[in-house]
Amino acid sequence: MEDTATSHGLWAVTARQPPDLKPLEGDHTADVAVIGGGYTGLSAALHLAEAGRQVTLLEARDIGYGGAGRNVGLVNAGLWLMPEDLLKLAGAEYGEKLLTVLGNSPDLVYSLIKEHQIECEALHNATLHCADSKSGLKALQQRETQWQQRGAPVKLLGPEETAARTGSQSFYGALMDERAGTIQPLAYAFGLANAAIGKGARLFKNSPVIKHEKDGKNYRLATPQGTLAAKAVIVAVHAYPGFAFQSIKKSMFWMNFFQFATPPLTGEADKTVLPEHQGAWDTNLILSSYRRDAAGRLIVGSVGTVNDFAYGLHEAWVKRTIKKTFPQVGDVPLEYGWHGTFAMNSNHLPRFHILDDSMVMITSFNGRGIGPGTVFGKLLAGYVMDGDVQKIPLPVLKPQTIYTRLFWELFYETGARLYHFIQRRI
Ligand SMILES: Cc1cc2nc3c(=O)[nH]c(=O)nc-3n(C[C@H](O)[C@H](O)[C@H](O)COP(=O)(O)OP(=O)(O)OC[C@H]3O[C@@H](n4cnc5c(N)ncnc54)[C@H](O)[C@@H]3O)c2cc1C
Repeated sequence: MEDTATSHGLWAVTARQPPDLKPLEGDHTADVAVIGGGYTGLSAALHLAEAGRQVTLLEARDIGYGGAGRNVGLVNAGLWLMPEDLLKLAGAEYGEKLLTVLGNSPDLVYSLIKEHQIECEALHNATLHCADSKSGLKALQQRETQWQQRGAPVKLLGPEETAARTGSQSFYGALMDERAGTIQPLAYAFGLANAAIGKGARLFKNSPVIKHEKDGKNYRLATPQGTLAAKAVIVAVHAYPGFAFQSIKKSMFWMNFFQFATPPLTGEADKTVLPEHQGAWDTNLILSSYRRDAAGRLIVGSVGTVNDFAYGLHEAWVKRTIKKTFPQVGDVPLEYGWHGTFAMNSNHLPRFHILDDSMVMITSFNGRGIGPGTVFGKLLAGYVMDGDVQKIPLPVLKPQTIYTRLFWELFYETGARLYHFIQRRI
């Protein structure tokens, strides 16, 4: 894995069994070409190979180089949006279908992990969305009602049970979602890649698609050392669109998120901080995430990059946060710090694009990509096989430039730096 210092951090160190891949060389053909080796591309490749299609996946750098190898590892059900807001925004035709597909997406993730025996520290034992303010608690009450009306196993915990489950007195309550859980995100990507290879998919790393053109009915993709001709193309480059897909950037705006990991906790801290290793995050606009890994480390994350001087600024904030939120941890060093980028858009709904007849893409997961990427990869695989657009629970949209994207990127990055500079000093 490249750029490990501040990109993939702990995950690059503890993910085992990376697939053994080479760059594409020479001229190749396939039924379907998949561009991008994150969850969307890998799930598409796996499901296509299982259905007997010849599929070739091209990854610009390494499997999991993008968000898939850097994220928090919370396997959430649904999106950030509340169910009712999602229904209003997605409309009657798509809303309920989208809610169902995304609400059930953790089941797909954990069933793939089981079926392909993916070793990725998988825990399917709920997540905790923690209220760090009274208004946050109100929002969680609404979320609880809206999901319970749909029969989802979610429950709002009072402050005492929240304190017992988190090991912190900082929260007013927490919404426990039994559909969700945690994984080691990069290890899950490696596992999907190995499973796809096992089913006959061909995967290549260090093979950026630098050019694509239509050649009769086929698409012809060029990488620095090879070409691939395919009848259909799934573009799965998400928030890391490079080379031939740079222009996609204009239709999303970036939000960065960093994480820092302690050494494995010991003694009282080990027993009390998220004792069941449930993943947690809070209701703040500049949200914070808290989780443990299999070795017992505490991993704290929030909005921002850890480039340049921001490393020290956010690291100091994490230390203060641990002191105030989990005082039993005491003074511990932070062993790893890293960050990644996810793609947002103005209404927080994913977008389905048919870029050309048989060249498709679903993007903008707005910070929720483990379940959505896995499920949308499967659905895109189905679409390129049967052409049935009805099975995709999203309208077909044209990529649209977000003219305010630079403003939003600056707003979140600068806002997070200022907030973390000031917060929890007293
Ligand atoms: C820090 C962070 C925390 C997050 N936390 C969570 C979380 O807890 N839970 C959750 O569900 N989601 C989370 N997400 C979101 C999630 O990681 C992403 O939505 C998910 O990784 C998207 O998967 P993907 O396969 O679509 O794209 P990616 O994983 O980004 O993969 C895209 C791949 O395309 C490749 N690529 C780009 N251009 C080319 C090209 N021209 N040719 C070939 N390959 C190319 C890139 O190198 C990259 O590997 C988080 C994201 C980040 C960054």
